[in-house]
Amino acid sequence: MKIIDISMPIHEQIPVYKNDPGKKPSIKILRDFKQGAKTRESRLDLELHTGTHLDAPLHMIEGGMDSRFFRLEDMVVKCKVLDFTPVSGGITDEDLKKKRIEEADYLLLKTKNSFDQTFNMDFIYLAESGARYLVDKGVRGVGIDALGIERNQLGHPTHKLLLANGIYILEGLRLKEVKEGSYTLIAAPLNIIGVEASPVRALLLDK
Ligand SMILES: [Zn+2]
Repeated sequence: MKIIDISMPIHEQIPVYKNDPGKKPSIKILRDFKQGAKTRESRLDLELHTGTHLDAPLHMIEGGMDSRFFRLEDMVVKCKVLDFTPVSGGITDEDLKKKRIEEADYLLLKTKNSFDQTFNMDFIYLAESGARYLVDKGVRGVGIDALGIERNQLGHPTHKLLLANGIYILEGLRLKEVKEGSYTLIAAPLNIIGVEASPVRALLLDK
């Protein structure tokens, strides 16, 4: 069995949404052997939407569910990686209709984004029509290799459609090395109470 890491490594220069410097994490060494301490201890200051992470409804819906939304039984699941690398712009219902998608599927959308080394303002996203199609199909979760599952859609309909229907949004995946097919996904968020998102170490198991 092969284990594939599909998460973004976290460091101070990690690509962040729209290259906003205020979104970069900082890692501060609080004490270290070099300063005569007997231990090394560090502090991480991290926006919860940095790198690979799960969104909860509270991210986009006022009064929506917080991190209690992340159910343990959905953190280790069968998933399907779908290849949309030829798509430019948004992935639409027409694009999705070409793939076999069933109820309760956890889908990971592989796009050209996985080949970008830096943040691309024109990243590929899930269009509103695509989100509506996946809601109708009754999928369990949607992952994408972008820091946002949508861009330039007034009112964030993709996020809202998915989250209002209890569908997980897993953002910031790295799928360059992953072929279309079926895998087991392990995507467990840190158990942070009362927040709207959480960082995830996402792994695929390939049998
Ligand atoms: Zn997010």
